[in-house]
Amino acid sequence: MAKTKTDNAIGSAERDLVALGLAIAAIILFVATGSSVVPAAINSLLGNGSSPDNLLVSALLLNIVLIIFCWRRYRDLQSEIEERRRAEERARELAEIDPLTGCLNRRSMAGATSALQEFAKTRGLAIAYIMIDLDNFKQINDMHGHSIGDAVLVQMASRIRNQLPKEARLARLGGDEFAFVTPYDPVSRERVDDLVVRLFESMAVPFEHNGISIDATISIGVTSDYEDNCIDPDVATSDALMQRADMAMYQSKKEGKNRYFWFEPSMEDELRFRHELESGIRRGLVNSEFVPYYEQQVDIESGELVGFEMLARWHSPTMGKVSPEIFIPVAEDIGVITELSDQLMSQAFIDAREWHEELTLSINISPVQLRDPWFAQKILKALTEHNFPPHRLEIEITESCLHENIGMVRSIITSLRNQGVRVSLDDFGTGYSSLEQLRTLPFDRLKIDRSFVGELRNPSTKSRIVDAIVSLGRGLELPITAEGIEDEEILDALKKMGKLKGQGYYYGQPENAEEVARRLKSAGRLARDQAPELPIARESVEEEEEHHELPQPSGKRIVNE
Ligand code: C2E
Ligand code: MG
Ligand code: MG
Repeated sequence: MAKTKTDNAIGSAERDLVALGLAIAAIILFVATGSSVVPAAINSLLGNGSSPDNLLVSALLLNIVLIIFCWRRYRDLQSEIEERRRAEERARELAEIDPLTGCLNRRSMAGATSALQEFAKTRGLAIAYIMIDLDNFKQINDMHGHSIGDAVLVQMASRIRNQLPKEARLARLGGDEFAFVTPYDPVSRERVDDLVVRLFESMAVPFEHNGISIDATISIGVTSDYEDNCIDPDVATSDALMQRADMAMYQSKKEGKNRYFWFEPSMEDELRFRHELESGIRRGLVNSEFVPYYEQQVDIESGELVGFEMLARWHSPTMGKVSPEIFIPVAEDIGVITELSDQLMSQAFIDAREWHEELTLSINISPVQLRDPWFAQKILKALTEHNFPPHRLEIEITESCLHENIGMVRSIITSLRNQGVRVSLDDFGTGYSSLEQLRTLPFDRLKIDRSFVGELRNPSTKSRIVDAIVSLGRGLELPITAEGIEDEEILDALKKMGKLKGQGYYYGQPENAEEVARRLKSAGRLARDQAPELPIARESVEEEEEHHELPQPSGKRIVNE
């Protein structure tokens, strides 16, 4: 739009060259005709001569009209030029400035960096490139809405700006990511550290908007064009500086956020590994490289096998075995966790249909999947497609899910439970869920994290935390599963705590579908081993099963086979 206006103004200016030519010609003619017509007219009025030639009078009047026309055209031209200047200014702003915060934008940061480098060079200074990212900005947007998110960004920009030296140039690179370049004396690098510390201090005060107060932290990455006692031309380009600051910032995120790192060359290797992982995961999804493994879940008291937890396994053709603790967070970050989970879940339903119908299947769900309002419906669709009974499925969600949109999580849990699927809270004790959440969210089970269960081996700490969680579960009428049972000592301690379920390496390592099928076959607990279903009510079937004492080998015995 600005461009069209500018083009029009240029066109008008070109047309006015013609107007200018006409004006000059009109003035010359006016002088020429005026010099003979005016004296003749005056003499005629005084009665001293004949009236001027009509043709010359007409020419004179025409000249006057032309001069007035050209004068007005000249005035129009002035205002058109002014309008063009404003349009060009606006176009430049749109191209260079972030409209929300008034900072430079990503595109103009390269130019600003080079210009500052020129300035620094003439004064014997280096430049530092500092990248700042708001931690958990998505959560702020999800919880409070985008207008509050925008207000936080505006305040954040202003707080950063207030800390910067006047030569520094600040840009918003996109979303919640800001960067600035500042000159500094390379012999006192600590000045940059001081500046960064002041940035953290400025963010420590909550952001306020419309009566809402928001606490937020930042992660920072720092780099400089000064290396090994000189300005290194290889790292002095704006792109290289941005990449290095980005890697340092990523390190801060990885180390727990709310901190800063200077770039170090080792970070480059890590980033390379990360890229390899990302493309490996995408390829792995296409080639179905992810497979479900199953960990036994056992009734601690009787030792009877009650079900399996599905755990994702990946044997990458290029990287070898990769732990889910590494690839699941990356799959979440690059937005493929739903696809990954769907593949695994479908395979798990197919596998578990071969097991005895009393055996349950637990599936871990990522917090990212719970941001999908249709999650419960998708699970139910998958159950129907695989003809898998909902009551055999248990969904495990971690406490970190509860920090996000709790309303949505509650409605998802409720929908799942209404269809007969059970929902348990995994890794309990590691994620600070509140008692209020536990009381109001309709969980079916708590799983005590293995870090606490492992302490049962230590006679000094013994069972205080596990005891407390078990009593809490009892108080809230929530059954409990203990994870990470590694030896008999832990098992004995747990047995004294009442009726619990348990899982861990004591019962065996997670196994693939064929190993599980072999294990169940030898224990007579495959689907084909169960008694044929009779067309009578469910209660009667259960009574009958008890009566006929179907083969129910203990979990312990299965493991030892
Ligand atoms: P989790 O859900 O708490 O799973 C239990 C983890 O503890 C598993 O690690 C299991 O192999 C390990 N484990 C079991 N018994 C013992 C024991 O006695 N001692 C010790 N030291 N460890 C034991 P794994 O398979 O590496 O999985 C780690 C985490 O990755 C899981 O923790 C879960 O949060 C996540 N995960 C695994 N598969 C999936 C998946 O398909 N989807 C999602 N979203 N997350 C998954
Ligand atoms: Mg789990
Ligand atoms: Mg767990």
